[in-house]
Amino acid sequence: MSKVYLVGAGPGDPELVTLKAARVLAEADVILYDQLANPEVLRCCRPDAEFVFVGKAKGDHTFAQGEINELLYSLSTQHAVVVRLKGGDPLTFGRGGEEYEHLVRRGVDCEIIPGITSAAAASAAFGLPLTHREHAPSVRFVTGHRAGEGEAASFSGIRVKGQTLVIYMGLSRLEQIMAELGALEENRDAPVAIVEKVSRPKQRILFGTVASITEIVRAAGVQSPALTIVGDVVGLARTLAELRGTSGQPPR
Ligand code: SAH
Repeated sequence: MSKVYLVGAGPGDPELVTLKAARVLAEADVILYDQLANPEVLRCCRPDAEFVFVGKAKGDHTFAQGEINELLYSLSTQHAVVVRLKGGDPLTFGRGGEEYEHLVRRGVDCEIIPGITSAAAASAAFGLPLTHREHAPSVRFVTGHRAGEGEAASFSGIRVKGQTLVIYMGLSRLEQIMAELGALEENRDAPVAIVEKVSRPKQRILFGTVASITEIVRAAGVQSPALTIVGDVVGLARTLAELRGTSGQPPR
């Protein structure tokens, strides 16, 4: 009887992989992974395991989602333990939900192992609480990339006050997203952080506002993967980083 595991690899640091994920990786006959999962994580796999890269780097689509779904299915007919390793948490903007649905509909035994999503890792790395009793009673995870096929997500009319926005996949559309948020005058001075390569060796945070962050990001040459976090909790994190004398760098 074969089983497919959809496994969260966390944001990069191998120590942020759960014990359960490590156990399943060590049992796997075959592992499908992509560029968001740190290859270091694969060290706990069996030496005779088979590795299949199904990366979907932006602008370099090696595999369409439908092909990955089919590949998972066909591997499940050939192997006892199949692992689909995904960056962060498999069901948070990872299309893990589509893979799970495809497998379940085809009668495949499937289990999901959660991972630390990059928002949680960014929050911890930089002392930036996503919720806060005074500043943010709610937090919203949004994609900056696409709401549906061919359609960009819209940020027009969103009031930033009283919530935290965490924007995944927003870097390439940052200017437009900030313009849409800034169209509401009350949003313009809202604090914004860009968090680049969380839990990896060159992780960093940059602070600005809705009005200023695009230029700051351009000047600093920020690269993917990066999250954009908007809201008063960002202002708090910045104040605390300054108090610690870490100038916005992660506390050590
Ligand atoms: N399932 C993943 C998200 C996949 S969508 C998770 O739970 O984190 C891909 C987006 O996630 C990237 O565009 C970026 O916005 C964010 N991301 C993933 N890993 C990241 C990291 N290490 N640092 C910063 N952002 C990251």
